[in-house]
Amino acid sequence: MSLKDWTYRRLKKNIKLAKHAGFCYGVKRAVETTKKLKEENNSKEIFVLGELIHNSHVINELSALGIHTVDELPEKETGICVIRSHGAAPEVFENAKNKGYEIVDLTCLDVKKVQQKAIELVKDGYLLVIVGKPEHPEVCAIRANAQIFGENIIVAPDVQCLKNNEEQIKKHKRVGVVVQTTQRIENLKNIVDYLLSVSKELKIFNTICASTSLRQTEAKNLARESDLMVVVGSKKSANTTHLAEILTGITKTIHIETDEELDNYKELIQNAENIGVTAGASTPDNIISNVMNKLNNY
Ligand code: SF4
Repeated sequence: MSLKDWTYRRLKKNIKLAKHAGFCYGVKRAVETTKKLKEENNSKEIFVLGELIHNSHVINELSALGIHTVDELPEKETGICVIRSHGAAPEVFENAKNKGYEIVDLTCLDVKKVQQKAIELVKDGYLLVIVGKPEHPEVCAIRANAQIFGENIIVAPDVQCLKNNEEQIKKHKRVGVVVQTTQRIENLKNIVDYLLSVSKELKIFNTICASTSLRQTEAKNLARESDLMVVVGSKKSANTTHLAEILTGITKTIHIETDEELDNYKELIQNAENIGVTAGASTPDNIISNVMNKLNNY
């Protein structure tokens, strides 16, 4: 092999972008519908309760269009209240209605299904276990919707949390499980294994959404053939963080929010021959393109 060939081979990198990277259908629908709402109702104030998606670039873009992101609806205003894809507690809907706001509910249909399953389990007398972080807005909304029908609910991010509630679990003959839509399947498996050992009857609804399952499976396959994986997306986004956690167990993985952060990993990138790229459900296409362009220029 000539030196020229060798140099070419050393310099040539395979950089592959996962097919299911970036906005999922629920997030796409939320962002597009909210922008369209503003276009069609320019004279009305539009308030989104909580960040529409966990991405500061998108939040800034919405703000530039005059769409407000708020934690609480202002008292002396009227206009449109947007419920984001994570869903919301029934009292949030009630409160917006009482204040005179028009409500546009953009709760993802997959999240609605989790809420319905959770309600069904509580109504049927199961001790409800919601797998997810208690502070996650989707989990708060699932809990709040189910709580109307009964108080026997445990929110468990991991097995240890359930172990701390073992007495309560053993007292109940029947235990039902739902999962926050972007959880890791490995976490659900560990929880189910544990619950099998302490409960008499166990009903499980695997409510991890199809978009998350596809994204995680595809990213795992890509990681197996890559020396380096680059995960793009906000560090506040649960599904992006889960992706990075999963891939770290398979190959070297870096989690970045924008292309600028790539400079912190120059050596890793230069030494990698096969680089895989994936992105969370709240990462816009232009941010992914910037990362791909910069990687191709290394
Ligand atoms: S990650 Fe899944 S549940 Fe969440 S908004 Fe996207 S499609 Fe819906």
